Amino acid sequence: MKQWFMSLAMPLGFLMGMVVIPGGVSATEIEDARIWPAPDNTRLVFDLSGPVEHRVFVLSNPSRVVVDISDVSLGINLASLALDNSGVSRIRSAQREGGELRVVLDLSTQLNPRSFVLRPNEQYGHRLVLDLERPPGLSMEPSERQVSRSADDLSNQQRNIVIAIDAGHGGEDPGAIGPRGTREKDVVLAIARELYNQMDDLRGYEPVLMRTGDYYLSLQRRRELAREKRADLFISIHADAFTNPRASGASVFALSSSGATSAMAGYLANQENAADVIGGVNGISLEDKDEVLRSVLVDLSMTATLRSSLDVGNNILGQMKQVARMHKASVEQAGFAVLKSPDVPSVLVETGFISNPTEEANLGSAGYRRQLATAIRQGVTHWFESNPPPGTWVAWQKREAGTLRRYVVVSGDTLSGIASRNNTSVSRLREVNQLNGSAIRIGQVILIPQG
Ligand SMILES: [Zn+2]
Repeated sequence: MKQWFMSLAMPLGFLMGMVVIPGGVSATEIEDARIWPAPDNTRLVFDLSGPVEHRVFVLSNPSRVVVDISDVSLGINLASLALDNSGVSRIRSAQREGGELRVVLDLSTQLNPRSFVLRPNEQYGHRLVLDLERPPGLSMEPSERQVSRSADDLSNQQRNIVIAIDAGHGGEDPGAIGPRGTREKDVVLAIARELYNQMDDLRGYEPVLMRTGDYYLSLQRRRELAREKRADLFISIHADAFTNPRASGASVFALSSSGATSAMAGYLANQENAADVIGGVNGISLEDKDEVLRSVLVDLSMTATLRSSLDVGNNILGQMKQVARMHKASVEQAGFAVLKSPDVPSVLVETGFISNPTEEANLGSAGYRRQLATAIRQGVTHWFESNPPPGTWVAWQKREAGTLRRYVVVSGDTLSGIASRNNTSVSRLREVNQLNGSAIRIGQVILIPQG
C-alpha cells in the first residue's frame, strides 16, 4: 500500500517541490522524540512506528555521536528539541541512500553513548533509546560530602543522619495521570523538593534527592544511589491511580517478602514495579546477579531493616493522618521492588490517589504539598530522635541532653565568664550550643555541661 503510494508520489513530489526521500521506501517512521537531561546522562528517545536496526558510533574533532537507523524516515523536526543541560549542542539528520537515516549529535562535553531498543508496552510503541553517559567525575551531581562511618569510638562522632528522598517515576515514565492531567512525576518531585528543603534546614540531618529533575532512574539505580549516599532511611514518594476514581486516602508501605497485606497494596506494588518498563531500562534482567546472590546472605539483616521500616512508617503515618485522610490506619506491606534494600530501612509513601478529583486538586496545591512534607519530616525526626544511629549528631545530642543544665543569660554576662563560673571552657560552650562567636544576648538560653 505504502509502496504503491510512494511510486505515484515521487514524480508528483518533484513537480510540487516536495522533499522526497532518495531511494524511497521507508516502512518505518520516527514519530516523536524526547530528550531527558539527567545528572549522570542525557537520554534521547525516538518513538517509532515499528522495529528498526541501528548502529551508534563516535567521531572526534569535533566530538559527535552518530546514529544510523536503517529503513526509517523522519516524521518530525529534531531541531525543535530543547537541548539545555543535555551536553548536546546540535542535532542534525540526513536521509541517506537505501533509506538509512543518519542522525548526528554535536557534543559540547564528553559523553559516551549506549543504545538499546524497547518493545511496545501500554504507554508507548517501539522505542530506540540513546543514553549519552557522562564519564565518572564529570557527573553534574553535587559533590558528595564525606561521611565518616568508622566503627571505632562512635560516641564522639557527630555525623548527619542521611535521608534519601526518592521522587517516583520521571522522564519517560509520567507515573499516574489525574483526570485533569496532573502528572504524578511532577507532583511527587515537588513534594520531594519541599521535604528536602525542610530537612536541609534541620541540624543533624542531610537529605539527598535521588531524582533532581525530570528524568527516569531505574528502581535498582534508586536503591544503589541510596546505598552510595550511605542513607539511614529511604523514602519513595508517590501519588498513584486506582481503577476506581473514588478510591482516596494516603498510605504508607513497607516491603513484604511474602504477598501483600491487601489487594490494594498488591495492585499498587505491581503498578510501581512496572515503572522500569515504561521508564526504559536496558536488558530484561533487572536484578543484578550479585545482588541475588547477596540476598541469600542478607535475610537476617533484612528482618531488622524491615522492623525499622515498619516502625518509621508508623511514625510517618501518625503524623500524616493529622493533615491527610488515610486509606488504612496502619503501614501496609507489598513486594515493592524499590524498597528491596537489604540494609537501608525503606518506606513508600502514597500521598494520595491522583485518580481521585479531590485529591488531584489537593496535590496540585503548594500549601497542601507543604503540609504533607512537614508531616513526613516530623514522622522521620520523631523516629530518629527515639532511635538515633550511633555516631550521629542526633545520638550525641540525645546523650548530652541528659547531662546539660540550662542557664539564662543576664545583663553583664560574657561567654568566658559563664565558662569559668561553671568549670568549663569557651570552646566547649560553643560546641554544645552550636555558637560561632562569643556574642550572647540577654535572655538567651545557654546549655552548660555538668561534671
Ligand atoms: Zn507511583
